[in-house]
Amino acid sequence: MRRSLEIFLWQLAGAALLVFLSLQLDFKLDILLIALIGAFVGVLVWLFINLNRSGRFLDWIRTGDVSRAPKLNGVWGEVTDRTRRLLREQNKSLLASNKRLDDFLAAIQASPNGVVLLDANAQIEWCNLTAASHFGLNPTADISQHIGNLVRDPVFASYFTAGNFQNEVTISGKSSAASRASRLAVQIHPYGQGKKLLLSNDVTGREALEFMRRDFVANVSHEIRTPLTVLCGFVESLQTLDLDEAERLKYLELMGQQTLRMQSLVSDLLTLSKLEGSPSPLSDTWIGVDVLVRDCELEAKALKTDLGAKLGKNEITLNSSEHLTFEIQSNLELAGSQSELLSAMCNLVNNAVRYTPAAGKIGVTFNATDGGGAVFSVSDTGWGIAAEHLPRLTERFYRVDASRSRESGGTGLGLAIVKHVVQRHGGELQVSSILGQGSKFCFTLPSSRVRIKPS
Ligand code: ADP
Repeated sequence: MRRSLEIFLWQLAGAALLVFLSLQLDFKLDILLIALIGAFVGVLVWLFINLNRSGRFLDWIRTGDVSRAPKLNGVWGEVTDRTRRLLREQNKSLLASNKRLDDFLAAIQASPNGVVLLDANAQIEWCNLTAASHFGLNPTADISQHIGNLVRDPVFASYFTAGNFQNEVTISGKSSAASRASRLAVQIHPYGQGKKLLLSNDVTGREALEFMRRDFVANVSHEIRTPLTVLCGFVESLQTLDLDEAERLKYLELMGQQTLRMQSLVSDLLTLSKLEGSPSPLSDTWIGVDVLVRDCELEAKALKTDLGAKLGKNEITLNSSEHLTFEIQSNLELAGSQSELLSAMCNLVNNAVRYTPAAGKIGVTFNATDGGGAVFSVSDTGWGIAAEHLPRLTERFYRVDASRSRESGGTGLGLAIVKHVVQRHGGELQVSSILGQGSKFCFTLPSSRVRIKPS
């Protein structure tokens, strides 16, 4: 309607102008014809103006720059306005959806799991950095590559070809550290039109833990089975053989030894599980180092007597100060668990007693350090330990010489207990040893757990 009125006004203006000119210039033509020509000219001018405006509108639309919209009148002005508003809204929603996509990708990027998006042809559309490091992918250069060409593990290849993605499979990953063979649990989740989501999860630690657990159970079973088998043998002998009193007593003594061995094992296992399952000891109970060392000394001397009788080390003078010496700063106090600290100290001193021949020497010290902490150290001139064993000594059931450990009543858990106790008290266990010359085990305690006894 508006457009018709506009055309009509242009026609009217054209007609009026020409009629006016003809009157002024005295044209010898019919006035109606002149008006018609004028109206036609008016339409032509209207067309020309609108053509020009549509051209400017087109030029602007081609640039796509909303901010540089031309200032147009009439219909084209309205078209430009509406288009600009539409473009603005479209840009706004495009920005918002781009931001949503960025946020979404950033969230997947932050995921500890690897994520790979595969198109219907199993070509990589996108992958996060975790997946890139799991599979050794390049997140930009490998886009559009077929996943089968890049993840070549045979287990993955047959999983992918079989097309049954109900369960995950475990494959070898491409860890950045060459020394560490990583293991990945991967699973494919189909979505959309033939697309696939490939998720990966580093299970190296989980597998190692599972291995450790199985190893631990096997070790415990083995440790218990051996004395149990011996016990069963003796019980059978007692039941079936016609033994004299001396033999019977000998058998009972041996049975007692096996029972003690199992008892020590169970007791050490319980100690370890308690240490692992409870929070670090508080620092509000102070124990005198002299009390701890005195108990430790008593236990070591009892062990010496015991071993002397059992293993024929009776040439050791039990109270001889030159074989087992204690030098301590007796005004020191420690904060923590008395039973745990005593157990750590006794384990180290007892080990020195057990792994040092009769003529050897053992020196125990407990002193404050310059930094306000303290250090407990046990040095012996025993058999010593070869360097390759040192890093593994605190592993449960790790023994350098299993028969020597067992015959002196070892469970293979002592140093694991010491390490736990020391760590729970904020300290550190250090070991140095020379094969054939002796060893030195010491642990430090931080200044927060050490003080001079208030007078
Ligand atoms: P065990 O009960 O077998 O002594 P530990 O955990 O206490 O277990 O010690 C682990 C191993 O470390 C021992 O089996 C032994 O081979 C070695 N070991 C520990 N202390 C000493 C030491 N003072 N001298 C030599 N070897 C030692």
